[in-house]
Amino acid sequence: MTRSHDDITRREAISVAAVAATGLLIGGCTVTRSTLSTASGLESSVPDLIVHNARITTMQRPGHEVGALAVAAGQIVAAGDDKDVLSLKGPQTRIIDAGGRRVVPGLNDSHIHIIRGGLNYNLELRWDGVPSLADAMRMLREQVARTPQGQWVRVVGGFAELQFAERRLPTLDELNAAAPDTPVFILHLYDRALLNRAALRAVGYGKDTPNPPGGIIERDRDGNPTGLLVADPNAWILYKTLSLGPKLPPEHQMNSTRHFMRELNRLGVTSVCDAGGGFQNYPEDYAIINELHERGEMTVRIAYNLFTQRPQKEREDFAAWAGNNRMYQGDELLRLNGAGEMLVYSAADFEDFKVARPDMPGSMEAELETVVGLLARNKWAFRLHATYDETITRALDVFERVNREAPISDLRWFLDHCETISDRNIERVKALGGGIAVQHRMAFQGEYFIQRYGKQAAERTPPVRRMLEMGVAVGAGTDATRVASYNPWTSLSWLVTGRTVGGTAMYPDSNLLSREEALRLYTGGSAWFSREETRKGRIAPGQLADFALLSDDYFSVPADQIRGIESLLTVTGGQIVHAARAFAPHAPAPIPVLPEWSPVGKFGGHWRVAAGASPPPFPVCCPHGLTSSPLGRDALGGGAGCSCWAF
Ligand SMILES: [Zn+2]
Ligand SMILES: [Zn+2]
Repeated sequence: MTRSHDDITRREAISVAAVAATGLLIGGCTVTRSTLSTASGLESSVPDLIVHNARITTMQRPGHEVGALAVAAGQIVAAGDDKDVLSLKGPQTRIIDAGGRRVVPGLNDSHIHIIRGGLNYNLELRWDGVPSLADAMRMLREQVARTPQGQWVRVVGGFAELQFAERRLPTLDELNAAAPDTPVFILHLYDRALLNRAALRAVGYGKDTPNPPGGIIERDRDGNPTGLLVADPNAWILYKTLSLGPKLPPEHQMNSTRHFMRELNRLGVTSVCDAGGGFQNYPEDYAIINELHERGEMTVRIAYNLFTQRPQKEREDFAAWAGNNRMYQGDELLRLNGAGEMLVYSAADFEDFKVARPDMPGSMEAELETVVGLLARNKWAFRLHATYDETITRALDVFERVNREAPISDLRWFLDHCETISDRNIERVKALGGGIAVQHRMAFQGEYFIQRYGKQAAERTPPVRRMLEMGVAVGAGTDATRVASYNPWTSLSWLVTGRTVGGTAMYPDSNLLSREEALRLYTGGSAWFSREETRKGRIAPGQLADFALLSDDYFSVPADQIRGIESLLTVTGGQIVHAARAFAPHAPAPIPVLPEWSPVGKFGGHWRVAAGASPPPFPVCCPHGLTSSPLGRDALGGGAGCSCWAF
């Protein structure tokens, strides 16, 4: 990697920062330190923090790197050579030697369910990244032993059976043996849930419980539920059942949300767009995040969208919310970002590739038009969950109609997911000024898609490269916590290598991104989706001081190790929100995990390898064992990755 010389001079850097910090237009005149001190006060001119001896990817332009950055009053005030930046230091400046490590702008997940996920995080055993079912079941048994009577053990998504070396889920017999008395609930993607006998008793499902619409309670020969719940075609039964479990009391939900934010900080995430979620009611279920914001305990910036919970009453919900709330109300730590990802239930095409594509009902267009028209007239931004091109075509028909009456091109509206979007529809999104937020959902269920639609159809699911070529705004993310893992490095690994967590190579080279392109989507790309691209996504004067110092160099580690990267030092708004290993002395004070039996206290969140160790290899995906050789298309060269799984 060549290190391009920093050509933003210190003077220019400071002048931009001074404008940002003080609102004064300094223009082209020479700004010295003393001028700056007088203009904006000592507090904001002398850096609070300098990180030097680093390899800082600034994202100002392709390939651009600097050695040091300075932060004052929560913003980047300088980025340049070590000598120049260190010359700004004052007596109070905290100086951190990065030891030559890579620093990147804070990662921004443009589609995650962090607010809902935070309320439950401390209740959940995470199988995210766990390499074998044996490990997963050992963790489960340990957690069963730690769980008091009346509480459940739950694994709520974030993993796929094919990530396990055994390439399968536990059987119901195995679950019953591991937990004879403690209710266990395991959610796998949007396709099924496994409940042991104790959990079936706890939720009261018996011989007489009817199947809900769109879901199946599997039964034995006598008609008794076995413990397997199947979404066919929608996941309502899975979430409804999950909602019957015990909840955390508010003080523990507060603690749980803080731990989830810390877990994201540990992975280098400093910003997200929250997509609402089923059973996540506004405003009731936002009391916890508002309280954390008031207490000054936000460590991840959140721009949140409002998700209707009432089929057939969607218009009422959005009319009330638009009447009582102002678009973008809040501040840079917690702000309203509009409506969605559920706008109307008739437009929600669940992405369960084990079942046939659902056709949206004929009422979809009229219902969607009522809601989108209302949002457009109120100048609200909106996002829409849309998996399949067929749904997208119909939604765009509606958006184009609304746009003729009430223009939407300045609203920062966007589509989420878009796994099978056609070029024609990408063009239509662009023409309407919209964007597309993509996530690594295919990394968790690509194999099922291939089974149903074939390898060729899977090659552009989603067609990220085409979106970029066609010039539409694209952001990256995860759609965590329930289908996919929240780990941004799993997502970046998928964008770069095209591999699922099961090891299957999904895409031709023409639909893979370079590491820099992928990182751009995860930083400045996502910032567009909350209209913050002038404040986030780069290491440059005037940008928010959000960045991560990485455990391994994202740009030079072998491709199969990208998914093992974590942050050793994460800064949000100039505050160190996470620090580990050599940087541990800078870490914020630890907070206890509540309740004390929480799986988070014992296992943390995502599976971790020991410091300095490599992540486990991708699972072997064919009898040739090709995946035990260096992985990723860029590592293999010529795109010779194994893709035998589908046959
Ligand atoms: Zn969605
Ligand atoms: Zn979502």
